[in-house]
Amino acid sequence: MVRESLLNAENAVLREVVRAGDYWLKEIKKGQTFRILDLEGNQAADTLFYNADDPSERYSATDTVREQRNLYLTVGSQLRSNLNNVMLEIVADTCGRHDTIGGACATESNTVRYSLEKRCMHACRDSWMLALAEHEHLGISKRDITHNINFFMNVPVTRDGGLTFADGISAPGKYVELRACMNVIVLISNCPQLNNPCNAYNPTPIEVLVWN
Ligand SMILES: [Zn+2]
Repeated sequence: MVRESLLNAENAVLREVVRAGDYWLKEIKKGQTFRILDLEGNQAADTLFYNADDPSERYSATDTVREQRNLYLTVGSQLRSNLNNVMLEIVADTCGRHDTIGGACATESNTVRYSLEKRCMHACRDSWMLALAEHEHLGISKRDITHNINFFMNVPVTRDGGLTFADGISAPGKYVELRACMNVIVLISNCPQLNNPCNAYNPTPIEVLVWN
């Protein structure tokens, strides 16, 4: 479902470009809204969410899918935690569909899916691990890296229940906007994957905007 935002970029309190392959980690306060903007199109933003006041509470794909009775995320989706609390709500979306079942790329999955020599290639999990190592004070560790959302990524489920990593449905300038329903830590890996069409084989920058 597509719904455009009423917010004006000129009023944003923060605007940051995240280069392909970099991470973005920030706290978003309850009531703030943030936008992930696909600057050049066909880019995947692999994102984790934690309760900033107690990071042992974090985003749960199973709770989210069960409560909304739909596999895909778009406007109106409430992103739930492992305690079934609503963490964020998608309030605008010009892409129309986001994935939360495909998981994130890792050197191990690159090896299994593609080939042994792909193991040394940069993957989202490495970006998250680097982010957590550089922000030890948050108290989030490797074991807290669990369910994620792949914003802008297209993972349709076949009639037989299979997952397919399809060509992206995003395009330059498309965005998704979320309002925080609690204080949340947002950790985005701007996906460096080169082996499947989720980034159109060409990882590109995104921009993150925040409004009060
Ligand atoms: Zn990735």
